[in-house]
Amino acid sequence: MTASSSNELPTFDGSSSQQSPEAGLQSSAAMAAAVPTTIATPVAVTEEPGLILIVDDTPANLDVISQALIDAGFETAIATSGERALKQVQLAPPDLILLDIMMPGIDGFETCRRLKAREVLKDIPIIFMTALDDIDSKVHGLELGAVDYITKPFQEREVLARVRAQMNLRHANQQLAASEARLHSILNSLKDVVWSARLHPLEFLYFNPVMEFLYGVPASCFLEDAQQWLQMIHPEDRVQVATLLEGNQPPEFLDCEYRIIRPDGDIRWLQCQAQIRSHGLEKRLRVDGIIHDVTGRKQAESELKYAAEHDSLTHLANRAYFIACLNKLLEQPRQRRQDKFAILFIDLDRFKVINDSLGHLCGDQLLIQVSKILKRSVRPTDLIARLGGDEFTILLHNVCEIEEIVTVSDRIQSELTHPIALAEKSVTVSASIGIVQDEAKYNAADELLRDADLAMYQAKSLGKACHQLFSEEMYEKAMEKITFENQLRAAIEKLEFCLYYQPILDLTSKTLKGFEALVRWQHPERGFVSPGDFIPLAEETGLIIPLGDYIIEEACRQMSLWIAQFPQMQDLSVSVNLSERQIQSRGFIERLTLAVERSRLQPKHLKLEITESLLMENSELTLSLFEQLQAQGFRLSLDDFGTGYSSLSYLHRFPINTLKIDRSFISVMAPGDSSFEIVRTITALARTLKMDVVAEGVETEEQAEYLRSLSCEMVQGYLFSHPLSDEHATQYLSNCFG
Ligand code: C2E
Ligand code: MG
Ligand code: MG
Repeated sequence: MTASSSNELPTFDGSSSQQSPEAGLQSSAAMAAAVPTTIATPVAVTEEPGLILIVDDTPANLDVISQALIDAGFETAIATSGERALKQVQLAPPDLILLDIMMPGIDGFETCRRLKAREVLKDIPIIFMTALDDIDSKVHGLELGAVDYITKPFQEREVLARVRAQMNLRHANQQLAASEARLHSILNSLKDVVWSARLHPLEFLYFNPVMEFLYGVPASCFLEDAQQWLQMIHPEDRVQVATLLEGNQPPEFLDCEYRIIRPDGDIRWLQCQAQIRSHGLEKRLRVDGIIHDVTGRKQAESELKYAAEHDSLTHLANRAYFIACLNKLLEQPRQRRQDKFAILFIDLDRFKVINDSLGHLCGDQLLIQVSKILKRSVRPTDLIARLGGDEFTILLHNVCEIEEIVTVSDRIQSELTHPIALAEKSVTVSASIGIVQDEAKYNAADELLRDADLAMYQAKSLGKACHQLFSEEMYEKAMEKITFENQLRAAIEKLEFCLYYQPILDLTSKTLKGFEALVRWQHPERGFVSPGDFIPLAEETGLIIPLGDYIIEEACRQMSLWIAQFPQMQDLSVSVNLSERQIQSRGFIERLTLAVERSRLQPKHLKLEITESLLMENSELTLSLFEQLQAQGFRLSLDDFGTGYSSLSYLHRFPINTLKIDRSFISVMAPGDSSFEIVRTITALARTLKMDVVAEGVETEEQAEYLRSLSCEMVQGYLFSHPLSDEHATQYLSNCFG
């Protein structure tokens, strides 16, 4: 290959620190031609010494030179004229031609010209041999492409030296061409861009063909105007790249990632690693580097980041991301912070019921719809997150007045009042919203979320579908509640509870019909704590389950003792109050049965008092539970009857044995008033449904008289007896049966 070959790879000398890095630079026009577009075929390297063709019309010359070359280890071929030489080279292309100029027919110059005109032959070195010694002939010969000149009469030693020198040169060229072809092949097959450019101004010296593919533009585009390469960089990244290239600060080694926008609009992420070549300390001359397409990795990274920061169902931010954003906001010095923000903590009311009754798929759809409603209700700059389940939070930016926050909260509530269409049904939901405003005392997101959550719970306890603004008082109450909860938990472990027993009597005969077991907490500091004060908390926290088990065990144990002591107790029962959560707890019936068996009681000795609300919620489940209890022989009592919302049409479906009329009707009843009529109706209803009826909270003779007039069979109340300790109850039984 010669220096003018279009396949030539530009070579740069950046390796030697002694030499100017400019040394190997070529003009950009030359480079335009030099940018390789095809994969070069490696050139075969001939083994030395090679085949020499000697062309001379003097046979004596041919013999002498041929012999000398053969003696030196070369192979030779001979031709006695230019015409023959041209034929001969076609048969066996030589590695070098010794060519006489003065020959009959076509002379050496013409022979040389014709050889050089043939593509396959033009690289064969030609040494002229002639007696012509004038400068013009020599120059003419060299211009025709000859590499050297031997003057006749020749010396054998000179011929051999010149032939050897040319053959060595040819061999070195062949090796270089082979090496370059290999390098070409490698560069052309790379998927990464390899490039080199002059700096100040930017001008490409080399890049491999994949550049065109990666950037989606022809090579000429960058070769003609290297600025176009910079222009293709994403505007947000351009300055960074330009600064790195143009800047006169270290680093000498660049490693940066940037985006390009291709002409088809496609955005690719590229990683560029490059070495700046400088002259001395200041002058940056050239940059050589590699560009690697990292779009796939960047996409995977951004997908991972998205997944780590978002909720997969609603595509809202998740808890971690919300907290991170909030913390970032809190990190800014308060005095410099422009943004006065607020947090809304939103929890859907009765979501569990919808989820359980319509199925999780509908539940998911509902959450998606709610997330859309939330998005509609706030500004795009506000951050909405799903914390989990049916809990959402919103970070409202730039809200100074509480009125603004309340407006947003009201907007959400009112949007939620519209029916939401799900696949099979449409449902309406409401939400309880807790609000907390940014204040100096808040240092971390957790604190804000904790208070917003508290306010949300307050909204729930105030009847749901409303909002509550967090207050200090709320926090103190919550703290008290936590303390109380801890005490309750400890009390259950230490068994600080006991049961009191209130007699239930036949109103006419005044004979004992049974007891109602009522739990008492013997608090070490507070003294007796009434169940009204701790049962709701025990229910809320689930502590009612272990506590309830203890109460059942204890009532059974006591009843068993009494039956052993007073055989008349055989036909009586002890009533135990059950809470909803307790009944619905896993394995309730098994534990109940076990307690009864352990104390050698029969199920009929235990009456289970439940409230009306249980019949309404999950009625199918409750029905099957009640049927199982009834089948086992337990008796069921509907407590506080009349205060709930139980539809009378429900009542006959459930296997209830007793209705207990709530104390609130008894305490105010007088003939002719509504309470009196309610008590009359309940008594009649119980009789129709073949249920027993107990009037609760009878305190006066007058009330007892009214109840007698309504034929109410059984009573319970202070008029007859307060709840009694086990000791006093035993005393009471001694009086009855002793
Ligand atoms: P309840 O089941 O309706 O129990 C009757 C309540 O009325 C008892 O209050 C009792 O002491 C009170 N009482 C009885 N006669 C009269 C009267 O003539 N006048 C007045 N003013 N009150 C009377 P207590 O013991 O404070 O229990 C309150 C509620 O706590 C119970 O209402 C029941 O719902 C719940 N509770 C009590 N013990 C337990 C228990 O062991 N487990 C569960 N889950 N709840 C219980
Ligand atoms: Mg009761
Ligand atoms: Mg009651």
